Amino acid sequence: MKKDLLGMTIEELKQFATEMGEKPFRGKQLFVWINRGVQSFDEMTDLPLAFRQRLAEEACMGHVRVIDMQIDESDGTRKFLFGLGGDDDSGAQEAVESVFMKYKYGNTLCVSSQIGCRMGCSFCASALGGFVRNLTAGERASRVLMAEKTTGERINHIVIMGMGEPFDNYENVSQFLRLLHDPDGKNMSYRNMTVSTSGIIPMIERFGTDFPQAGLAISLHRLGNEDRSRLMPVNKKYPVDDLLSAAKAYTEKTGRRITFEYALIRGENDRDEDVTLIIRKLRGMLCHVNLIPLNKVAETGLEGSSRNRAEEIAQVLNESGISATVRRELGTGIDGACGQLRLRNKK
Ligand code: SAH
Repeated sequence: MKKDLLGMTIEELKQFATEMGEKPFRGKQLFVWINRGVQSFDEMTDLPLAFRQRLAEEACMGHVRVIDMQIDESDGTRKFLFGLGGDDDSGAQEAVESVFMKYKYGNTLCVSSQIGCRMGCSFCASALGGFVRNLTAGERASRVLMAEKTTGERINHIVIMGMGEPFDNYENVSQFLRLLHDPDGKNMSYRNMTVSTSGIIPMIERFGTDFPQAGLAISLHRLGNEDRSRLMPVNKKYPVDDLLSAAKAYTEKTGRRITFEYALIRGENDRDEDVTLIIRKLRGMLCHVNLIPLNKVAETGLEGSSRNRAEEIAQVLNESGISATVRRELGTGIDGACGQLRLRNKK
């Protein structure tokens, strides 16, 4: 297998260049070309020809390919199916989805952190197939480059909200954020990156220290401890009240507003008493509540609340001093919306 240079930091590439018998600064040149999205080593015109030829034999820039792309014509959302691993076209061993969304303020790519997921949330399609493996920083970076190439558009924002739990793969996710931020790479501001977690408390603390400028979203969904444990097993280890304390500490440390995601499930967490509990527990926190009527995942048997009920809840929250909106739902026509990404093997 050829060595995959995509996803490597400048330091790692300098090391690599040295191992190839080249001067370390070649590593930086490699980094710049790779993150500009060139397709072949031939295009790296400031590298010596002999080095380029050896690179072509021994290395590659990502194993990721676009296998399929679906477009939701109503809103321009595109769902990519990327194949990972293996250099041939015989069908991917593994495939992972990413969703490209257009917003007024720019284009966002929703990137997965893992293939499958081990969190086991009862309402989410990503939990159904179990966990396969972590995605590397390079696999994520190449999806960004491929999505830009395929759509012909620049990606301005990254949200790590696809399949998987990013804080269950912290090292790879943080390397990816650093790559995006690198001035010699995409030079993306940390402010344009958001990571969403189901609530792994120690990692929330670490994230606040490592990336105080990046955005943090927490999938909350229920405020009652036992109710939340039924929906989200992670709550048994990290109970919701501790989670809220960690969230509060994060906002105090970073000065950044936290986003709470709340998927509205009909009759389950959208009743008046649920809304009262939200108000009681979140009032006074530097936060925003993102209400999302649950998207359909056939196997779960759960129903989303109506758009009207969602708007009503948003209004009650706002009147109580808690900033809340109903998320504009993109990509439902192509099963590309939150919680609808699932494992797919060979096409
Ligand atoms: N594991 C992380 C990252 C996944 S982000 C996390 O839990 O935050 C995906 C978001 O979609 C999460 O907020 C998740 O709770 C939410 N979600 C899962 N299933 C959903 C569904 N069927 N409808 C709407 N949102 C869903």
